[in-house]
Amino acid sequence: MHTTMQSVPLSTNQLLERGKQFFANREIVSRLPDKTLHRTTFEALHRRARQLAAALVRAGTKPGEPVATLMWNHAWHMEAYFGIPAAGAVLHTLNLRLSPEDLAYIIADAGDRILLVDDVLLPLVEKLVPLVKLERIIVAPTCGKPVQQGYQDYETFIDVDATDFQYQELEENAPCGMCYTSGTTGRPKGVVYSHRSTVLHSLAISLPDCLDLSCNDAVLAVTPMFHANSWGVPYASIMVGANLVFPGPHMAAEDLLDLMERETVTLALGVPTVWMTIQQALDNAPGRWQLKQGMRMMVGGSAVPKAMIAAFEKHGLAIKHGWGMTELSPVGTLSWLKPEHAALPEESQYQVRARQGIALPLVELRIMGENGPQPWDGASVGELQARGPWVTGGYHNTPRDPDKITDDGWLRTGDVATIDAEGYMRISDRTKDLIKSGGEWISSVDLENAIMGHPAVAEAAVVAVRHPKWDERPLAVVVKKPGKEVAPEELRAFLAAQFPNWQCPDDYAFVEALPRTSTGKFMKTKLRDDFKEWVSRTPQ
Ligand code: AMP
Repeated sequence: MHTTMQSVPLSTNQLLERGKQFFANREIVSRLPDKTLHRTTFEALHRRARQLAAALVRAGTKPGEPVATLMWNHAWHMEAYFGIPAAGAVLHTLNLRLSPEDLAYIIADAGDRILLVDDVLLPLVEKLVPLVKLERIIVAPTCGKPVQQGYQDYETFIDVDATDFQYQELEENAPCGMCYTSGTTGRPKGVVYSHRSTVLHSLAISLPDCLDLSCNDAVLAVTPMFHANSWGVPYASIMVGANLVFPGPHMAAEDLLDLMERETVTLALGVPTVWMTIQQALDNAPGRWQLKQGMRMMVGGSAVPKAMIAAFEKHGLAIKHGWGMTELSPVGTLSWLKPEHAALPEESQYQVRARQGIALPLVELRIMGENGPQPWDGASVGELQARGPWVTGGYHNTPRDPDKITDDGWLRTGDVATIDAEGYMRISDRTKDLIKSGGEWISSVDLENAIMGHPAVAEAAVVAVRHPKWDERPLAVVVKKPGKEVAPEELRAFLAAQFPNWQCPDDYAFVEALPRTSTGKFMKTKLRDDFKEWVSRTPQ
């Protein structure tokens, strides 16, 4: 027997068309470099993305060819998100926090010929140009000033009549986007998304038990559009008709809170480090911002401490904790309460919500130990592996590597985790961040989350330092809240109530700020390097 169902290829063009057809007047609001707000509609996005597509085809862009962007979050970047795939090409988002040398490596590896860039980022491009072979640099006028000589003006480039523009006929597995991994070890590697993976990911993250996204929402994407598709919300929001609000280059807590208040944001997304500063701003100025009650915040990219979920709850704001990777488009899991958790005490509910959560539909997870897959008992630890329609099966320009993809086709995430009987995944570390003390593993993430629950602590990261007897011991690098004091002995006693004695750090270093990666995570490689001479206080 054969199926009687139609087989229409999935495509991001379908999302663009749907956005215009059903939600033409929904808005995209972008904060520009001069802090004014730029407002446009889904109808205009549709028109201008198609103009960009027609202009790219006219300029000789071939199906499957990458077109790079170096841009903040705003309406022009949205046009690239839809216009580049509409031309049959591949949207290649470049991380504007990388060095010119790293960007040059990535541009050469991808084979980019065309770059779309913000006018405010031209100083970076000038350093980049001698290192790369770009044929065309097109500048988006986010400052509203004439574009510098020697570059092509974006508005002139897309000034074509695209009324009759025909989308390229593509199969659903054709590439539509590309993003490089953060590359904390080794060179960054390209992950290439397909039209199919992008559409399926958009559907899954919109579900009620994930982002619960609908045309009643206004979504603030603090997650950069240059990293992991801004967690997929640009595509999903157009599909469901949710207003999009973009901060542009203004990422300070006060700026973000102003935008949330002014645009009645109902869902905001970002990494915990952003939310730590927002929490401090709210605590320091109670009542200053009138935020939409019940506003959801999807927080992920690194672990969300339980204390943070509780702190926001007091402001009437709900954190949804998720886990993902560039390799997963990026969302893999989200933590939400099942009906049977309703009767649990508040503290236990926070505990569930602080886990990384339940796999999205169609994503499969397993915990691989030395002797094969581990039971889902919440205690058996191993490497987290993933499989599914929006999980990468390899890397661009890279031979198949058994350290990355298993022989039976699962992605090796490099995260160390457990899964409990109810299916909640919990990450205890990155493989390389685990601390091995006297032959026993200590989770740096668990210690960090606990330390960040202390009222005097703003941020904390835990790394291994050498020890002559125990091989490694944990060192807690701590940033105190402004005006607060805390001594190492007090932190140790605070942790001793939650962890076995041998796991509690004896070593504490107080710093003004923690180093961050280009995507806002604590940069443990730098910390390990900064403190490599540290002499542990743990007795021998
Ligand atoms: P990236 O590809 O740069 O987004 O980094 C992906 C990695 O970030 C994952 O493999 C995890 O190590 C980490 N990560 C993402 N979300 C979480 C989370 N909720 N808790 C802990 N680690 C996370």
